[in-house]
Amino acid sequence: MIRERLVNGFRNGIVVPQGLIAHGRGEAFDYLLGEKTTKHAYEAEKVAVCLLLLSDKSIISINGNAAALCPKDLVTLAKVTNSRIEVNLFHKGRSRTSAIARVLRKEDTVEILGLDDNSRAILKDIASDRKYVDKDGIMISDTIFLALEDGDRTESLVRMGKKVISVDLNPLSRTAVASNITIIDNIVRAIPNMIKISEQLNKKDKPYLLKQIRNFDNNGNIDKSLLLMKKGI
Ligand code: ATP
Ligand code: MG
Repeated sequence: MIRERLVNGFRNGIVVPQGLIAHGRGEAFDYLLGEKTTKHAYEAEKVAVCLLLLSDKSIISINGNAAALCPKDLVTLAKVTNSRIEVNLFHKGRSRTSAIARVLRKEDTVEILGLDDNSRAILKDIASDRKYVDKDGIMISDTIFLALEDGDRTESLVRMGKKVISVDLNPLSRTAVASNITIIDNIVRAIPNMIKISEQLNKKDKPYLLKQIRNFDNNGNIDKSLLLMKKGI
């Protein structure tokens, strides 16, 4: 069923062929986790929600695969954590960007950034079209939730001093290694989990949320996921 969503997304011009290959990479790691959310992933999801709730300007960066896999949940997560949404593509194209925006808007009325060519800002040290972000979106945000992202861009955002949360099944990818909070889980499980966690945490006070973040060791968490994968093998 999950693959079918991607294939439909490909046919509707939301997913690029490279996205199908990227999904296969993710699946390979997911098999080693038993295709379920581990307690370590859940821990990272919880801390990520704490950070989103504490941030002044949080934004969710959505690519074609993410939009094909869980558009409704992504829009809901943006609402419950008071985050904005930016469409941010590795392989650009105006028609694809608008198709993705249409899919997201079908779920709810949301403001979507990354659509206006006149609102472009440039990420440092990145060649090609991948360098563009929205000057009123990712560029001015303090916390960026990367719902599937490439390593070059993740590293650039971290260098800019942004707090970066990522969902990536590959614990060894540059995205996973560079992020401040790395969620090693399938996006189709991570986002619904985070919505539920937000509903539980949004009544907690600031010191509680801060404490969760302070006590979190991202590298240690990645190591634990790697050990579980080793057991999976
Ligand atoms: P990097 O650029 O970060 O070093 P990469 O070049 O291998 O890694 P990209 O194509 O840039 O990978 O990013 C896609 C990442 O998303 C891959 O690491 C892949 O494992 C992961 N991925 C693919 N599908 C999913 C999914 N459904 N849930 C979570 N992660 C996924
Ligand atoms: Mg990459």
